[in-house]
Amino acid sequence: MNTKPGPRGPNPDDCELCAADRFTHWYYEDEHCWVADCEVCAVPMVVWNDHGTEPTDEAVEHMMAKLNKAAAGRFGDVGWKIDRTMRQVPEHFHAHARDADWWGQRFRRPMSKYTGVGGERHEHGNPIGT
Ligand SMILES: [Zn+2]
Ligand SMILES: [Zn+2]
Repeated sequence: MNTKPGPRGPNPDDCELCAADRFTHWYYEDEHCWVADCEVCAVPMVVWNDHGTEPTDEAVEHMMAKLNKAAAGRFGDVGWKIDRTMRQVPEHFHAHARDADWWGQRFRRPMSKYTGVGGERHEHGNPIGT
């Protein structure tokens, strides 16, 4: 976790994206970002490791590439799109990959669970190892 102060916004200590709790499936992580299922929307979401809203162009490109990869792995090559609107936590850069059904399905989809970074994706109700 990054502890350096952000350029603006509330204290990163109070930020749920800085907290980076591992409850859902994590697709990827490195020193720049992490990609996991959003606990609210149940779709892949990339989160910058820095608390702020202005990553460099290179960082954005890197993050979008990782989100694209996670989304393509889950949804396939078509039928979803990147949503960079930051509704929940406007002071910390993140983006979602939303499939066409995400809104109607968001409470019906079984939530994925954390089983380590980059492994197979498991949902609650699916026994691990099958
Ligand atoms: Zn979300
Ligand atoms: Zn934050």
